[in-house]
Amino acid sequence: MRGLAKVERSSGAMEFVERAKPEPGAGEVLVEVDYAGLCGSDAGIYEFESAFERMELPTVIGHEYAGRVVEVGDGVTEFGVGDRVVERPIRGCGECYQCRIGEENVCQDAVITGVDHDGAYERFIAVPERALHPIPDDVKQQHAAVAEPTSIAARAVIENSRVGAGDRVLVEGPGPIGLLTAQVAAAQGGTVVVSGVGQDADYRLPLAEELGFETVNVADDDTEARRERHTGGVGYDVVFDTTGHPSGLTTAVDEVRKGGQIVLVGQTGETSMPYSPLVRAEIDLQCSYASMYEDFERSFRLIRDGDVDCETFVDTRFSLFEADEAFETFIEGGTCKPVFDISELA
Ligand SMILES: [Zn+2]
Ligand SMILES: [Zn+2]
Repeated sequence: MRGLAKVERSSGAMEFVERAKPEPGAGEVLVEVDYAGLCGSDAGIYEFESAFERMELPTVIGHEYAGRVVEVGDGVTEFGVGDRVVERPIRGCGECYQCRIGEENVCQDAVITGVDHDGAYERFIAVPERALHPIPDDVKQQHAAVAEPTSIAARAVIENSRVGAGDRVLVEGPGPIGLLTAQVAAAQGGTVVVSGVGQDADYRLPLAEELGFETVNVADDDTEARRERHTGGVGYDVVFDTTGHPSGLTTAVDEVRKGGQIVLVGQTGETSMPYSPLVRAEIDLQCSYASMYEDFERSFRLIRDGDVDCETFVDTRFSLFEADEAFETFIEGGTCKPVFDISELA
């Protein structure tokens, strides 16, 4: 079978490689992949950012996917042939201190599907049954492919933020995690504004508006006037930074109200700024990373109930056979959440 792999330690360098169909080992099932999404971290692998230098190449990428169980290994008890499933792709070791106290998302020795071993941009994948999550009957297979990024937003908002009814919320960054975070924050009762930059003007900010949010383009809008209008000059109760850019945090400090909360979801990188104003304003600086079982449960309920509008959010224009086009368009902001039809590889 063919799989789309990262083949060289440079930007681009994605090619189809030939792989043997995997055999499910003890405790594993064989999943036939139906749909797989393109995520910001897949784009990071495409551009070969430093976070991915640990990868052994070639590795088939893709970690957000929905499939069906087609074979079960010895000792599998929870899943059977025909079950529709998604994977929780960040697998804790089960043995370190964090795993033992129920903080698997910050495991000291986690492995990630599509980074540390072959992922879902291929027809079949063998997965330990403990990493699988069943797809509810009333969630479409194509929509289930975005359950994983939705679970990350669910964790950021429901587990790690204090957003409640009537709160004024700013989500910085209209990428996939940003627009999912905005939808979950709205489901929690927040009034949400989404901000982006120049390159977001063509696709991502209009998509945010289609999803029901007011938007700010920080490249040409007067953000101070916006803040004045939305919050009476007080500032936002909660600001989520999903930009993954150093300016995301410093901007959040300008936008949040005194006594408010900043939730860092994107990986900001390196930035320096004066912290005393944060202390004097008693800003709650909270981080959110990855997701766990309960976040997937919430993710599926949010999708099923339409709080996360997959019909509008998912972009089906791209094929894995023209993956470069999908990646380049994603990096330029011309799409937000491409989902590939993996059955094309059959
Ligand atoms: Zn992802
Ligand atoms: Zn662990």
